[in-house]
Amino acid sequence: MLIVMNLTATDEQVADVREKAKVNKCSSHIIYGESKIAIGITGETRALSVDDFILMDGVIDAMRVSKNYKLVSREMKAEDTIIDFNGDKVGNGFLQIIAGPCSVESRDQIFDIAGQLKEMGIKFFRAGAYKPRSSPYAFQGMKEKGLELLADVKKEFGFHIVTEAKDTETLAQVVEVADIIQIGARNMQNYSLLERVGQIQTPIFLKRGMAASIEDLFMSAEYILSQGNFNVILCERGIKTFETATRNTLDLNAVPVIKKNTHLPIFVDPSHGIGIRDKVAPMAMAGVACGADGLMIEVHAHPEKALSDGIQSLTPQQFKSLLNKIQQLAPIVDKKF
Ligand code: PEP
Ligand code: MN
Repeated sequence: MLIVMNLTATDEQVADVREKAKVNKCSSHIIYGESKIAIGITGETRALSVDDFILMDGVIDAMRVSKNYKLVSREMKAEDTIIDFNGDKVGNGFLQIIAGPCSVESRDQIFDIAGQLKEMGIKFFRAGAYKPRSSPYAFQGMKEKGLELLADVKKEFGFHIVTEAKDTETLAQVVEVADIIQIGARNMQNYSLLERVGQIQTPIFLKRGMAASIEDLFMSAEYILSQGNFNVILCERGIKTFETATRNTLDLNAVPVIKKNTHLPIFVDPSHGIGIRDKVAPMAMAGVACGADGLMIEVHAHPEKALSDGIQSLTPQQFKSLLNKIQQLAPIVDKKF
């Protein structure tokens, strides 16, 4: 159920509404918008009456939300969610780029690429320390040692670090280093992990599962928000289709659909989306053109030597030339860059 209150409603009036929602273990979630206060009530709400809420002081409207996702919806919050990383904001009309190699591989490898990306003005640096791989024989990441190297990179270059949490067992270690915790495509429906990252306040980068519908993605995000963490960024990273010419099919349809239905920022990952180096740049441009709030791009100083996803990683030179093109495109689609 969604209760809409006047921005001028008193703390007491808000507290009364939340008190009334306390039946059958229902929980209430409050969002202060620019012109209204929204209170989302989740759980077994059947025993609650819409009419009772409408009569309460400070309440403008009350309604049942029949969708399977509520807190992530535009009905709950009309304004875009903006996440602030010490002044570098995501979702506020600035196009943000998360760049870096697929994995942390060694101190030399990670410092080499980090230094080059810093020079290009990149603020958000990605690299996986825990790598959930399709094959158990593939490189699984440097794990704790990889996180230590990421902490060193952060200290040296001042990036906001994006790195993946693979399971609940190792989440606490990732929380120590990450400014944004990635939940990868393979874990999009790992509900225990989603609940756990919902209980912290670190922003979450939630990648769409490779066989997940857009609504599945919304419901996974809802798991995180319903636990109290509203700092969620969604990511379209390609889905499995019958097409075999590319690694995945980047579903850019998802971007305007997500923008319409949720207030959460949406990034596009053309690297995993198409999976072939020379085709990453055009799909990155397409991602910007269709309204993404940002891009995630894999860049490696020596892609031919990469331990994971070298085939789709851009060289620093290719990445630099892509940034130049994005700079020209961004203002045409009303994005600051
Ligand atoms: C990655 O970002 O390197 C990754 C493994 O992504 P995905 O979860 O989208 O496959
Ligand atoms: Mn990768």
